[in-house]
Amino acid sequence: NAPLSEVDPEIAEVLERELNRQRGFLEMIASENFVPVSVLQSQGSVLTNKYAEGYPGRRYYGGCEEVDVAESLAIARAKQLFGAEFANVQPHSGASANAAVLHAIARPGDTLLGLALDQGGHLTHGMKINFSGRLYDIVAYGVDPETSVIDMDEVRRLAVEHKPKVIIAGWSAYPRQLDFEAFRAIADEVGALLWVDMAHFAGLVAAGVHPSPIPHAHVVSTTVHKTIGGPRSGLILTNDADIAKKINTAVFPGQQGGPLMHVIAAKATAFKLAMTPEFKERQERTLRGAAILADRLTQDDVKNAGIAVRSGGTDVHLVLVDLREAEIDGKQAEDLLHDIHITVNRNAVPNDPRPPMVTSGLRIGTPALATRGFGDVEFTEVADIIALALIPGADVEALRARVATLTEAFPLYPDLQQ
Ligand code: PLP
Repeated sequence: NAPLSEVDPEIAEVLERELNRQRGFLEMIASENFVPVSVLQSQGSVLTNKYAEGYPGRRYYGGCEEVDVAESLAIARAKQLFGAEFANVQPHSGASANAAVLHAIARPGDTLLGLALDQGGHLTHGMKINFSGRLYDIVAYGVDPETSVIDMDEVRRLAVEHKPKVIIAGWSAYPRQLDFEAFRAIADEVGALLWVDMAHFAGLVAAGVHPSPIPHAHVVSTTVHKTIGGPRSGLILTNDADIAKKINTAVFPGQQGGPLMHVIAAKATAFKLAMTPEFKERQERTLRGAAILADRLTQDDVKNAGIAVRSGGTDVHLVLVDLREAEIDGKQAEDLLHDIHITVNRNAVPNDPRPPMVTSGLRIGTPALATRGFGDVEFTEVADIIALALIPGADVEALRARVATLTEAFPLYPDLQQ
């Protein structure tokens, strides 16, 4: 039981360097966040040793009395947090949750209608070489080429024409709120089930600063590690008792074996924290930060460099930058921001002429910086740094110094040692 630094110094160094990287960079990948130390504690705990196939009170292994308490707390808190009648907290990830949802409510060969990957959808919503695209018959909707907003008339037209078994509402790169009511009306009209994947915006929903899909969808899936800022994992919710039963069977034994009890305990803590006023205030800062960024990136100096913001702004935690008319492509922009110690990801924009490894866009999110403590003043500074970085002729040294001032003023995990 020697410490990691003795047993495996190479890995110990990875942990230490990664902590320093997180401390020294501005994390703006829209799907990332910083978990609190309390969540790290559960995830690095002895609960990782425990096998607990089954559900609380109905396990296939002995010795589950303590992990039963943890999972029951996670379930009760998830239900309370989102106002849902049923929660399954066992999915290992967002993709596992989505596989279980489809396992529960569709059969291979059924038709699914979801947002195309290159229009902002997720791999698990029907991408060709993903399980979803291989097992199901996929029809995809996109965004309006002019407004970059989902056209509900087009969704309805495709639904009426193809009569899907499931309509998927949810996204990985889309800067606007979805109209859950309209999606449900279309689903009802064509006899489809509505599945909302709120992986990205679940934290906003939990805080009440974004409409909730729960009253409208037949089933809702999410990750716990994006805007919620909990452990890397998934969650499924529903108010439909019949679907609830199918979800439990689909997760275990349908998709998974033993649940990750250390992660489930950490989820319980994350859900508890998500019910606090501090969490709501953080989500409000997240939204304001994204709005400040969108505002700065639509100013004339940025526009004149051929850079645009998809849909002209945002009402969520991210901004989609359109570089199709700019001198730099998505890869170059990502590298440039990395050079000044800001981490973002390049992202295809709808109708992107460049290949997926290059792209003509950036996805920039504010959740991690809001967790780090950033408010309007800091987001205004970050937005200006990004704007100046993307305009040709940036003074990289000067911008990196401005980033360093911010990272030093907001120390990350000040007491943590890896
Ligand atoms: N669903 C959506 C909408 C996502 O954006 C993501 C992650 O990017 C996932 C599901 C999958 O989550 P995970 O990476 O945990 O499998």
